[in-house]
Amino acid sequence: MEQETLVRLSSFVGVLLILLLCERFWPRRAWRQARMDRFVINITLIALSALAQRFTLGAAAVGVAFYAQAQGWGLFNLVNLPFWAGLLLGVLLLDLAIYLQHVMFHKVSLLWRLHQVHHADLDLDATTGLRFHPIEILLSLLIKTVVVALLGISPWVVIIFEVLLNASSMFNHSNLRLPDGVERRLRWCIVTPDMHRIHHSVHRTETDSNYGFFLSIWDRMLGTYTRTPRDGHEAMVLGLDYCQRPERLKLGRLLMMPFLVHPYSHNTNPDTHDSGG
Ligand SMILES: [Zn+2]
Repeated sequence: MEQETLVRLSSFVGVLLILLLCERFWPRRAWRQARMDRFVINITLIALSALAQRFTLGAAAVGVAFYAQAQGWGLFNLVNLPFWAGLLLGVLLLDLAIYLQHVMFHKVSLLWRLHQVHHADLDLDATTGLRFHPIEILLSLLIKTVVVALLGISPWVVIIFEVLLNASSMFNHSNLRLPDGVERRLRWCIVTPDMHRIHHSVHRTETDSNYGFFLSIWDRMLGTYTRTPRDGHEAMVLGLDYCQRPERLKLGRLLMMPFLVHPYSHNTNPDTHDSGG
C-alpha cells in the first residue's frame, strides 16, 4: 500500500508539473481569472477530496479487488485471463463505466448539484481535471468499487487505470495548444484538451456532450460527440451559464454549492446568466 501511494502521488505531481509548464509556453486560450487564485482553490479542493477519501472509504476499489481475487469473485476471476488481456479489458470496461457515470451525473439533477462544482471553473487548466466536490469523489469511488467487484478486476489493473485516468483528466482539462495534426490523430483514440473543453461550454447542448475522460471512442460510439464548439475554441465561454461571477466561486461557496445553487433544468433557456445566486 505504501508503494501504491507513492506511485499515485509521484505520477500526480509529475504530470501536473509538466502540464503547468507546457500551459505556460503553449497556451490555447487567454486566461480570464488570475491563475494563482484558481490554483489555490483547485488544489485545496483536490486535497480536501483526498483527505475525505482517506478518512472514509480509503483505497476501497483496490481493497475490494484484492478481496474479490482471493475469493474468486467477479467475471474476470471466473476465467483464466493472461495479465495483458485483463489489463486491456479492465481499462476498457472501467473507462466505459466512468463515461456512463459521467452521463448520469449530468442527467440526474441531484447528482448535477455535486457535479456543477467541477463545471463552475471559468478557466480550464490541469488542476480542473481533479477538482471535484469531495462528495462526488466519494460517490464515484463507491460506484467504481461496485464495478471492480462485479467484474473481478485485478488490483494492479485498478491502480494502473486510476493513475492513467488522473493523468488523462489533467491532460484533457489543460489549457494546452497541440499542433493540429497531433490533435487530430490523438483524438481518434484519447480525449484531447480541444475535445474536452467543449464539455465545459456554457451552451448546454455542448456541455451535454464529450463525456469521455480517457478514451474518445465512447462519445463517438454512443452519439454524444461534438467535434467543434460553435463559438470557436478561443472565443467560447467556459463555466456555468448561471454562475459567471468569479467572486461567487470562492472555496467556501464551492463547497456549499450543491446545497445552495439550483441545478440547471434541462428544459430552460441555456443562455441566461447568473440567476442561480
Ligand atoms: Zn461533466
